[in-house]
Amino acid sequence: MIGAFHQPQCVIADTRTLATLPDRELSAGLAEVIKYGLIRDLAFLAWLEGNMEALLARDPDALAFVIERSCINKAQVVAQDERESGVRATLNLGHTFAHAIETGTGYGTYLHGEAVAIGCCQAADLSRRLDRISADDLERIVALFRRAALPVIPPRELNARRYLDLMATDKKNRSGELRLIILQRIGQASLPVSVDRGLLEATLNEYGRN
Ligand SMILES: [Zn+2]
Repeated sequence: MIGAFHQPQCVIADTRTLATLPDRELSAGLAEVIKYGLIRDLAFLAWLEGNMEALLARDPDALAFVIERSCINKAQVVAQDERESGVRATLNLGHTFAHAIETGTGYGTYLHGEAVAIGCCQAADLSRRLDRISADDLERIVALFRRAALPVIPPRELNARRYLDLMATDKKNRSGELRLIILQRIGQASLPVSVDRGLLEATLNEYGRN
């Protein structure tokens, strides 16, 4: 909950370190990669749809491309907004839901990326209810997370009431009002917005619940 900032002197990305990473951890990392496509890089999202098998097989060229493209996307966002006053918040797509999942299930059931995958699907479901994306877009987004071997269905034990309690502590909230990142369209996130409570409850009660 405390924001701390210190810039690194350099960043080294050595794809060979991924060779021993368990498949589940690799997929968890891909959740944040898919997130970049969703929030600001539709061409990247399409590339991921065409290359998910190569990524899961740890093709070195595919991994190198994905890491570079993710770093470029993050660097561009952070350079615009070093202290998270505006556009940087878009990196939090799905994370308000994800933090509720992680806290509500006791930080042991889901890896962070797994919770983010579910959270991005919930954010996409809410975006559809707000008429920002189509039902086909929502299906497309959920399908890509599934193909990355990630969970897309929220945990049974978290009902809407509990979700709302857990989401109430998010740092994007202002004077008690819940604020979320949604999709303006597929490939473009909104800044934090306060959303209609009824629609949010509909997502929490209905998405992945049948
Ligand atoms: Zn994250």
